[in-house]
Parts: sequence; structure tokens; C-alpha cells
Amino acid sequence: MKTLPLRYFPDGILFQKCEPVPEVTDEIRTLAQDMILTMMIEKGIGLAAPQVGKLLRMFVVDVEWPKGTEQADPHVFINPTVEFKGPLIKSVEGCLSFPGETAELERAKEILVRALGLDGQEFVMEADGVLAVAIQHENDHLEGKTFSDRLSWLRKSGVQKRVKKKLRDQKRAAAKKS
Ligand code: ZN
Repeated sequence: MKTLPLRYFPDGILFQKCEPVPEVTDEIRTLAQDMILTMMIEKGIGLAAPQVGKLLRMFVVDVEWPKGTEQADPHVFINPTVEFKGPLIKSVEGCLSFPGETAELERAKEILVRALGLDGQEFVMEADGVLAVAIQHENDHLEGKTFSDRLSWLRKSGVQKRVKKKLRDQKRAAAKKS
């Protein structure tokens, strides 16, 4: 397993619609494992393929691992469809492609998701609360939507400035190390 470089806002790949995964191959399984590792190393609870530069309809979610790595419970969703079930709830979301940024958004409290697993078989899963919110957030990425689409223009340009500065600072720090 290896970690994959993340794509950050305003990278154009984050705004493109993803293509279905034609077949669950070893390559896809490796990508999923690498995405899970990347998500955990970067301290996220979800990661979608476009965030690591792949325009594929797949994402990984694990809302349990922050409680302790022994509680890790990663889920892989390939070619998912999400059905909204519950009422809307407000919660604060972050995104690995927007380091340090959060926003309060409304999402369905309960959902039903259908997807292919790593074995290529379809599964159906009910989710609620944090898991439901995380799945909806990642599923948006497959449509080229990020939570910046839900922010005002002013907040959006603030986010863009801060993310750019953060990346500049990181590059500078890396240059000093080498
Ligand atoms: Zn995200």
C-alpha cells in the first residue's frame, strides 16, 4: 500500500463528473487500499477518487477509525447510488481537498446506498448520522461537486486564498528540508 498525492481546491479535476468503474479489477482494489491508507494518514473520514486524481465513481469512508485504529471499519463504494431517506440535519463538514476549512451544511440524516464492493458484487447499506453525511459528501465529489459550491462567493474566495497560501508554505518547508 502507498499514499497518494491529494488534489486541492481549486484543482479543476475536483469539478469534473466521474466515469463509472467498468470492472472491479486488481488495479481498482489496489487503488481502494491506497485511498484508505491516504485517508487515514491525512486524518480524513472519507476520500473520493477525484481527490487523488482519478475520475472514477468510487470512494472510501471510515467514520470509526478516529476512535482508535483498532476500531477501523473502512467501506469501499464503487459505482454508488444514494437514496435519501431521513429528514435534513445540519452538521459541520471538512474536506481533505480544502485543508483547514469547514462549513455547516444540510444533509439527509438517513440514506440507502447501493454500490459494488471490492469483490465486484452489489451490496445495499443503510446509514445514518455521521456515516450518512460522509457518504453524501463523498458521493457529491463523483458529480464534480465540492462543499465550496455551497459557500457564498466571498467565503469561496477566502477559502481559495487560504488553501493556496497553505500549499505555498508547505512547498517552502519541503524545499528547506531537501
Ligand atoms: Zn471532500
